[in-house]
Amino acid sequence: MMKTCSSGTSAGERKLMPFIHEELDRRQLLYSLLMPVMNQYVPDLDKGKALHFLFVKAETKTPGGLVARPVLTSYYKSDHFKNRPFDPYNLYTSPNEAILCPDSFQSMYTQMLCGLIMRHQVLRVGAVFASGLLRAIRFLQLNWQQLSHDISTGTLSPKITDPSIRECMAKLLKPDPELAEFINMECSSEDWERIITRIWPNTKYLDVIVTGAMAQYIPTLDYYSGGLPKACTMYGSSECYFGLNLRPISDPSDVSYTIMPNMGYFEFIPHDDSSPLTLSRDSPPPLVDLAYVEVGKYYELVITTYCGLNRYRVGDILQVTRFHNTAPEFRFVRRKNVLLSIDSDKTDESELQRGIENASVLLKEFNTTVVEYTSYADTKSIPGHYVIYWELMIKNASRPPTNEVLNQCCLAMEESLNSVYRQGRVADNSIGPLEIRVVKNGTFEELMDYAISRGASINQYKVPRCVSFTPIMELLDSRVISVHFSPAAPHWTPERRR
Ligand code: AMP
Repeated sequence: MMKTCSSGTSAGERKLMPFIHEELDRRQLLYSLLMPVMNQYVPDLDKGKALHFLFVKAETKTPGGLVARPVLTSYYKSDHFKNRPFDPYNLYTSPNEAILCPDSFQSMYTQMLCGLIMRHQVLRVGAVFASGLLRAIRFLQLNWQQLSHDISTGTLSPKITDPSIRECMAKLLKPDPELAEFINMECSSEDWERIITRIWPNTKYLDVIVTGAMAQYIPTLDYYSGGLPKACTMYGSSECYFGLNLRPISDPSDVSYTIMPNMGYFEFIPHDDSSPLTLSRDSPPPLVDLAYVEVGKYYELVITTYCGLNRYRVGDILQVTRFHNTAPEFRFVRRKNVLLSIDSDKTDESELQRGIENASVLLKEFNTTVVEYTSYADTKSIPGHYVIYWELMIKNASRPPTNEVLNQCCLAMEESLNSVYRQGRVADNSIGPLEIRVVKNGTFEELMDYAISRGASINQYKVPRCVSFTPIMELLDSRVISVHFSPAAPHWTPERRR
């Protein structure tokens, strides 16, 4: 049975890719190994449940009538997941009805409600990626009063209209004023440090991926969980699942994934940042087989899948850390060409550039241009958001761009970004409004002076299009003269490529 499946892969638009029914069996095999591995490190995980926030996303149809949906949505909607056999190691507090509800508010609300009701049974708390778990904590901050009201009265908020959820919650919800009182007490406090372990005291670890782009969320997760271990259990993509972490409780900086050779055919292009390969049809890349990679070296992952992709470059850069028996283990280094990422969005340099160009059009009537810019993924507040620093050249000082226009520039940038970004803004609320910080004239020159003082070459200096280094951030922030936010959500529909 041929289906297609989309993902928010390499920088930019979702890609459509082939998918076959049997692939779900192969992926199920990888899932089925995760808990036996975890069981070697954390005992008694069969004595309770997982509060795992799982969501489906909107699906679309291709012009030929095939269903296109993200891979996890395919999995949650499959019999493999819906009719999974009883497994005491894989019990979720979330009912299937909540996981499968396409409305992200109703789904999250119900999953949180169930997590609260069963709080003593919860042994692990998680989501696929760190950003998803933090979104759930933020949701609790915003909705605890209603949740506690429902628990106190044993009724379900009228905002939850999905009939299957209402039916299943009618069986679960009983008035529990004592629990409601506890939630009021914990959540009304200003101090949310260790909130995860306060509400779910039996949590042994967080089940979230914090490698790669998600590493930015580690300090916040530590704050909310009192530094609980963070288990990065597996490494995969919509195109193919790759492998698992055989030491899932290791420190995030030390995580390696062992690629499972039965998931696909894996090859590697040697990667060297200082001398990037220029590939052409006439000179194919030197591919190295999985068995011949060398410890310490960097590679770009190339896959050939059972679904029909042939020597497909995933875009991930990996480093070989060691061997498990004869199987190499890899550290996820980074994704190629990704500048900004908050959730599953991935924005590259050219998209950012296009955004700046489109927004600059609004400045024309003020005779103003953007002379320099850089960006930053701000994840200090949840949801995180993009921050763009702008240095402007205002040619007519008596008529500078108005606040209103600079706010509109934020929106114009958002409208130019890819649909995965806009979906995060509109449907998933996983990304906050884009912010432009206008900095004083000369700031970018100071930035260059700073880089040169640290050893950069004057000839080869390029303005970094994304920054995260604290002293640079401090320099930029100390020169900000005005701050602007997108006043509205950008345009997005589930249809493809709008
Ligand atoms: P998608 O196809 O949208 O699910 O995205 C797949 C991509 O997410 C991979 O190619 C990686 O870049 C990233 N990814 C998936 N799993 C991990 C992981 N365990 N650690 C770091 N990055 C990951």
